[in-house]
Amino acid sequence: MINFVGAGPGAKDLITLRGKKLLEKADIIIYAGSLVNPQILNYAKDNCEIYNSAKMTLEEVIDVMVNGEKNNKSVVRLHTGDPSIYGAIKEQMDILDKYNISYDVCPGVSSLFGAAAALKAEYTLPDVSQTVIITRMAGRTSVPEKEEISLLASHNATMVIFLSAGMLEELSKRLIKGGYHADTPAAIVYKATWEDEKVIRTTVEKLSESAKENNIKKTALITVGHFLCSDYERSKLYDPSFTHEFRKGVKP
Ligand code: SAH
Repeated sequence: MINFVGAGPGAKDLITLRGKKLLEKADIIIYAGSLVNPQILNYAKDNCEIYNSAKMTLEEVIDVMVNGEKNNKSVVRLHTGDPSIYGAIKEQMDILDKYNISYDVCPGVSSLFGAAAALKAEYTLPDVSQTVIITRMAGRTSVPEKEEISLLASHNATMVIFLSAGMLEELSKRLIKGGYHADTPAAIVYKATWEDEKVIRTTVEKLSESAKENNIKKTALITVGHFLCSDYERSKLYDPSFTHEFRKGVKP
């Protein structure tokens, strides 16, 4: 059995209890060395074989999994954040299917949420935005035409942009082209939940300048939208006059 496990955004205690148990039992761990905090590997037992997938091809990763399975070893494939977001897990699962090897997925806390916590923000503020767009700029991996940043920006919804910290000038241009004002609030969250986390509050127009000032080129999320302002409607759910399944409202 192969277990795909989300390691969380960085801090070693932000892995799930289930993920930690799987690491403690694992005979083999293949971890995404570019982003998983190595402190998380301290949960592994002493004789666990550890591989860093940053230096491996898909075929090499699969070889380790297949050999592990043959020898009845318990294998953990440790991904950063949650494996379903830019995790390249589908291609691994599809090959395992061909080998008839079973697997399970243990979710993790995505850096999407690590960043919200670092910002002490709520992405879905009433009357501001009820939608979170998770996207990226095209890099060596292309992005479907209909998901081009300026098209998504036209919604003026909350946006969280992955894998784009090296392309901020172009990102700003596209966000503005799509309909965000140049002075719309934006934030750069570098290494959310790590010890050297940095939170930079800026505007759509100044994203690139702010990143340069702080020497940030990678491992950052860009968040954009008015959820970063303080102007919003309070929630219905906790309004004293609002009745719902668990509480009767009182007229003011
Ligand atoms: N599966 C991961 C994302 C992997 S893609 C998740 O759920 O978080 C890698 C990109 O994620 C990085 O380029 C960066 O944009 C973002 N990222 C990952 N960890 C981060 C962190 N701790 N802080 C800020 N951004 C992070």
